[in-house]
Amino acid sequence: MGAGPAALCIAAELVQQDLNISVLASHPPTKPWPNTYGIWAEELESLGIESLLGHRWQDTVSYFGDGNGVPGNQSTKHNFDYGLFDQSLFQKALLEKCSGLSWLIETAEEISFLNGITEVICSSGNTYLARLVIDASGHRSPFVKRPDHGPIAQQSAYGVVGKFTSPPVEKDQFVLMDFRPNHLSVDELKDPPTFLYAMDFSNQIFFVEETSLAYSPPVSWSKLKERLILRLAKKGIEIEEIIHEEYCLFPMNLPLPDRTQSLLAFGGSASMVHPASGYMVGALLRRAPKLAKRLAKSIAVNPPLDSARLAKEGWAELWPMELIQRHRLYQFGLKRLMSFDETLLRSFFKTFFKLPIEDWSGFLANTLPLPKLIVVMLRLFTISPTKVKLGMAGILKK
Ligand SMILES: Cc1cc2nc3c(=O)[nH]c(=O)nc-3n(C[C@H](O)[C@H](O)[C@H](O)COP(=O)(O)OP(=O)(O)OC[C@H]3O[C@@H](n4cnc5c(N)ncnc54)[C@H](O)[C@@H]3O)c2cc1C
Repeated sequence: MGAGPAALCIAAELVQQDLNISVLASHPPTKPWPNTYGIWAEELESLGIESLLGHRWQDTVSYFGDGNGVPGNQSTKHNFDYGLFDQSLFQKALLEKCSGLSWLIETAEEISFLNGITEVICSSGNTYLARLVIDASGHRSPFVKRPDHGPIAQQSAYGVVGKFTSPPVEKDQFVLMDFRPNHLSVDELKDPPTFLYAMDFSNQIFFVEETSLAYSPPVSWSKLKERLILRLAKKGIEIEEIIHEEYCLFPMNLPLPDRTQSLLAFGGSASMVHPASGYMVGALLRRAPKLAKRLAKSIAVNPPLDSARLAKEGWAELWPMELIQRHRLYQFGLKRLMSFDETLLRSFFKTFFKLPIEDWSGFLANTLPLPKLIVVMLRLFTISPTKVKLGMAGILKK
């Protein structure tokens, strides 16, 4: 169910397993996705699909200084390529892998389980039956049951692809996080910290996005827009032409789904967004083949498996104990970060990117095995300034 990146990733892999698949989605799968997806190039290289990138930057930096010194002195060079998917190429590549399956352009309204079979009732009045339904309808899915752990922290961002009176970032540069706060007043600095995510698209076109990593309640789009304009104005820059505006809002710490339910999920609906970074597409590409293989094997070994037992197999593959524990560590980290004020946050990230590349990139991609992740987190704690250590230990509270 769905036609976003999660649905197409898992459908493409299920088709490779020769299973009988239908995809049910509110809109045709060829409709362009509304979001642009970024990823560290190495994540795609390790899968051999880096050709899906439409843009790639070698000059990747962040700024964690206070903004009052020489700009060059304040930059943290990542020395790690970052890219943006060529959206239509990515979508086309997945759709090609999906060839042969049937598409149902329908909106699911109700899902129920009857005699081991799943029944999906759509707004058209049509009903579909399946051995297993995988809900890939995004983080707002009303069908996936999950515990209520209180308020959800959301990542929010307001971005503009456009032309500017002068370049907002250096030529051929990608800025992961510009946290320099020198455009804000003392009072504004007390508000939740936000940073600039920006890139040069060449031909005088740039993407600039003011972002709040995670906050509950989320930082509003109007506040982010105001901050973006202030940040640019401080450098004497104005927006000359808006080509596209991006309004971004998604949950960072959605509780893990109830893994005893007979409905399986994948993507945003399965809480697969990385709780410390907000990235997910790399995880979809890495985890879809394993999930598809596990389901195919379960069906081959034991053909009469019903929805409940097949979903159980799927949940076990999607959220094994190792990944659950890693997820908990990331959620713990995010909770701490959300309690940091902007000075502490800048200090934290400055230290984080002093870790060896394989450590920080593995942390961000969620590819470090649990023991290694614990070592990296301990190493980060050890090299952090005392104030950050106290913050991480939960002793410093705003
Ligand atoms: C603006 C934005 C930018 C992001 N940028 C990045 C990024 O750079 N890198 C990254 O890794 N992650 C990024 N994310 C996070 C995450 O990867 C995205 O949210 C991603 O789109 C989630 O994919 P999904 O397929 O799970 O859900 P969605 O993309 O939300 O797709 C859900 C699909 O289900 C369909 N659907 C919904 N309800 C029903 C229903 N009842 N019946 C049938 N069909 C239904 C929808 O029409 C849609 O096709 C971003 C998120 C946002 C919002």
